[in-house]
Amino acid sequence: MVFTGAGISTESGIPDFRSPGGFWTRHKPIAYADFLASAETRLEAWRRFLTIHDTIRAANPGPGHRAIAGLVARGHVACVITQNIDGLDVAAGVPRDRIIEIHGSGTHARCLACGERHEIAWVRDVISSTAAAPACTACGGIVKSATVSFGQPMPEAEMAAARAATLNADLFLAIGSSLQVFPAAGFPVLASHNRTPLVIINREETGLDGLAVLVLRGEIGPLMEELMARLDEP
Ligand code: NAD
Repeated sequence: MVFTGAGISTESGIPDFRSPGGFWTRHKPIAYADFLASAETRLEAWRRFLTIHDTIRAANPGPGHRAIAGLVARGHVACVITQNIDGLDVAAGVPRDRIIEIHGSGTHARCLACGERHEIAWVRDVISSTAAAPACTACGGIVKSATVSFGQPMPEAEMAAARAATLNADLFLAIGSSLQVFPAAGFPVLASHNRTPLVIINREETGLDGLAVLVLRGEIGPLMEELMARLDEP
């Protein structure tokens, strides 16, 4: 199985969080409790999200996403757990039922009270016409992007599916993640404790290199393209 982080999407023009110039070097994250507590903070969170969404909308799958789609199509990869919210694995052709988005999806929003789905285009219209964060049209509840913020409970079904996939894996390949964000980084730890070989592909050291049987340190695109070329060798 494959586990991906923000690093797989930097070659598509989406900045990661922790690299120099990454989002967090410019903005402190807004915690879930703060989002709930203040309408002003919600508006600021939405403004930041809409900037990220502009970048995501314009992005195309990169070589890493395409390689993963190829590995799934050849039957080498049964499941992809992604921390990303950009939907680029699906855009690259990975079937939806093979992907577990443990930090949710940035493609739409939901009401936190009744669960009603709302489109990001509607949120944009509400903010530009009212200069206020949107409220649910069905129940008046707080509307939030369908992503998981710091301090927000993890989605139970996705966490259970990711745990089962990890325990079933023959090999756990972690690509483009600093492996510092928990509970997500708990999956490679679980794989390793389960004696499943852990392979890490990342440009920088990660928090879990010591658990890996192999660490490939370099750029994801060229490394994954080489891996795919070797699969074609007789
Ligand atoms: P992170 O920013 O903590 O780590 C990304 C890692 O990828 C870094 O260690 C960096 O060195 C490496 N990297 C970046 N580009 C690379 C490349 N081209 N080749 C090789 N290595 C490369 O990201 P994380 O571990 O995913 O944790 C951040 C959280 O924020 C996650 O939940 C993540 O999904 C979310 N996030 C998502 C997106 C997205 O959806 N594209 C973007 C930013 C952050």
